[in-house]
Amino acid sequence: MSEVGERRLLIDGELVEASGGATFDNVNPATEEVLGVTADGTAADMERAVAAARRAFDESGWATDPELRKRCLGQLQAALEAEQEALRAELVAEVGCPILSTWGPQLDAPLKEAITWPAEMIDRFEWKRSLGPKDPFGMGSLNEREVWKEPVGVVGVITPWNFPIEIILNKLGPVLAMGNSMVLKPAPDTPWNATRIGRLVAEQTDIPAGIVNVVASSDHLVGEVLSTSPDVDMVAFTGSTATGKRIMAAASETLKPVFLELGGKSVTMVLDDADFASAIPGAAMVCFHAGQGCAMPTRLLVPRSRYDEALDLLGPAFAGISYGDPTDASNLMGPVVSARQRDRVMGYIDQGKAEGARLLCGGGRPAHLDRGWFVEPTCFVDVEPDMAIAQEEIFGPVLVVIPFDDDDHAVEIANNSRYGLSGMITSGDLERAKGVAARIRTGTLGLNGGIWYGADAPFGGYKQSGIGRQCGIEGLEIFTETKTVGWPVQP
Ligand code: NAD
Repeated sequence: MSEVGERRLLIDGELVEASGGATFDNVNPATEEVLGVTADGTAADMERAVAAARRAFDESGWATDPELRKRCLGQLQAALEAEQEALRAELVAEVGCPILSTWGPQLDAPLKEAITWPAEMIDRFEWKRSLGPKDPFGMGSLNEREVWKEPVGVVGVITPWNFPIEIILNKLGPVLAMGNSMVLKPAPDTPWNATRIGRLVAEQTDIPAGIVNVVASSDHLVGEVLSTSPDVDMVAFTGSTATGKRIMAAASETLKPVFLELGGKSVTMVLDDADFASAIPGAAMVCFHAGQGCAMPTRLLVPRSRYDEALDLLGPAFAGISYGDPTDASNLMGPVVSARQRDRVMGYIDQGKAEGARLLCGGGRPAHLDRGWFVEPTCFVDVEPDMAIAQEEIFGPVLVVIPFDDDDHAVEIANNSRYGLSGMITSGDLERAKGVAARIRTGTLGLNGGIWYGADAPFGGYKQSGIGRQCGIEGLEIFTETKTVGWPVQP
């Protein structure tokens, strides 16, 4: 990639270096080369950004001017679309995601609607609803009552590296459409897509200074200012469950609401009446983007009665996963994001072997790729539901295969997880699949290969996969407060 990314932070409408002037490297995970640097924001920078967001929310009129918000979101959308190809190349370079993924969930799909749908909803959202007249105390005083929806205020937005632009846009769109201001703290591994948004906001939109701030940092704890500051009204976080818990604990001091999109350990459940030849090979798609997706169905549950048939189909499916250079459109999988992440994934693979699971394929680092943080597409079979590799989120190209006896047993295994994010069920009978779906405790499910995704589709988790929903009406409401007002009805 020839073009170098935006290094500056956006604070109070200005594109700035970090206080102190430090920078940190942005490294390409496929080549291990330094792409360039980003301003290394400090806690002082973050505090300045929070103060700007507070002032802008309280004083700029953004919260009460839906026409301004629609116009500005349209400007930002146009600016992003104008740089779509540069953004694509940048994402592939800093995330290491296969370019194939950018034509779908990594870029083009969210760019199409993550901002435009919330912007359209500004006019259609139910900002006010009447409760009708009532004599609340039964003492002869008739009152009209209304429920008003209002922005929450200053939202701290903290995001991960795996689908960075998808996650940022699906927060930014609803946060701004609902009239809030925000401070974005992107993941240190992938800062440029976020700083690019900062530049576009500053240079190509009329968004008032301070409504959007972007503070990148190599220090995770700079994000903690957002959890603790009394000037931040809410934290919207996507990332690991461990960090989510820490944010929730820190936010409790100021009792701010937290919206958490966390980890997952979802299932692909193939029932005994399914067409195995079409259903089973699809399970190897956990290797797409090297398994770095929170909603990836990383546990494959297959009926014991057809177990061998399933394994016979899985071997070739894994052997057929093309991987390597993420700029090559034929590759489904590039590297994982960092050496640290590669070591973490390899640690889980070693643990799986030690626990007695059998490797059907993969399990190592590819010998033919001497640069980049690659892991072989890996499939463990004969996995027990309580093994660490069946319980922990690995976030790498690793599938575990678990046999079940009947539908009840399959549901029990699926729900034997502290997570509850997503999943897939395949059956020859859609009604049977729906019946099983109703018993699985997860926030989204695809039936018979169906896809639930969209800016209008609430996404989030049960249990330790999170609190709240992103996208859909629920994903707009979450960025609002509720005010109920009443007044006497004149006789
Ligand atoms: P992470 O939790 O390590 O980091 C996420 C973000 O939080 C980063 O910006 C990081 O700098 C910041 N952070 C870390 N510690 C912090 C603290 N104490 N206070 C404030 N901010 C802090 O996650 P990651 O490794 O970047 O991403 C991978 C994880 O994200 C996986 O567990 C994955 O399942 C999850 N994820 C979830 C979803 C979802 O929607 N449910 C989507 C994508 C990724």
